[in-house]
Amino acid sequence: MNKGNILEIHNLHVHYRTDIGVARAVNGISITLAKGESLGLVGETGAGKTTTALAIMQLVPDPPGVIEEGEIFFKGKNVIYNSEKENQKMRGDGISMISQDPMTALNPVMTVGEQLMEVILQHKKVSKKEAEEMAKELMETVGVKADRFRDFPHQFSGGMKQRVIIAMALLCKPEILIADEPTTALDVTIQAQVLELIQSLIKQYDMSMLLITHDLGVVGEVCDRVAIMYAGQIVEEGSVLDVYTAPQHPYTQGLFDSLPEIDSDENRKLISIPGVAPSAMEIPSGCAFHPRCRYKQTICEQTPPINGEGTHWCRCHFPLR
Ligand code: SF4
Repeated sequence: MNKGNILEIHNLHVHYRTDIGVARAVNGISITLAKGESLGLVGETGAGKTTTALAIMQLVPDPPGVIEEGEIFFKGKNVIYNSEKENQKMRGDGISMISQDPMTALNPVMTVGEQLMEVILQHKKVSKKEAEEMAKELMETVGVKADRFRDFPHQFSGGMKQRVIIAMALLCKPEILIADEPTTALDVTIQAQVLELIQSLIKQYDMSMLLITHDLGVVGEVCDRVAIMYAGQIVEEGSVLDVYTAPQHPYTQGLFDSLPEIDSDENRKLISIPGVAPSAMEIPSGCAFHPRCRYKQTICEQTPPINGEGTHWCRCHFPLR
């Protein structure tokens, strides 16, 4: 494991074995995350992003989920071999996750203060009084007034609930924050505020972040590097600057072509990617993107491309650049 990396994933395969077949959700991905770095994991629904996050947290539902192959190193230790006790500690102090739906992540019959205190008391050896003080302090840090400590989740707006979830994720000062579509369920006006909050907390707490999203705009604003996922594989990876200015993979190019350019005066026609992403149960042969790719050649239908090399690479027989 590289010394500067806090997280390394090597050749991870995660499948779900169901009565109607095997869903190959993650098919050989490798990613790294350096200390203090933010990596965006971008892809359509079903690309395997959330399964990757669950595998890192050791929360893949088993059955039907199985980590078939691969290694996940957190601070040099392969978490696949962790005991449940070690995983619980890792999920509190090491890696925290915020999910896309703040409505379901909070218990509706407990006040937010009680919920924050519960997490603190689970992970820290402090008195109830100290836990209450810590919870209130953190509420203020994320922009929720401490006098709302005894309010129930239904008394909060979506944006405020997401702030509470963020506070909960930060309670144990994790080293990695996994944010899974943290702004998707929020109004557009609130999205920017929540993103800004996440960005400032990452700096303040010196955390690394894995940001999972389908939104290239969000990644462009807050991440250092980006990995584009398609059908359970990373198809392109590089710095945000490199990938956004010179995408190499036809899928990445297709994602950009389908985005409106707000700053541009040109009347550019939006081009959508034809077809739909494949089901994890029926991944096409060769390059999984070939049924939708306008650059495909015969080899693409039969032979899977391999990962390119360097700091900006893609997985394609005929890279665009
Ligand atoms: Fe398109 Fe072929 Fe590249 Fe796949 S390998 S993205 S089908 S050109």
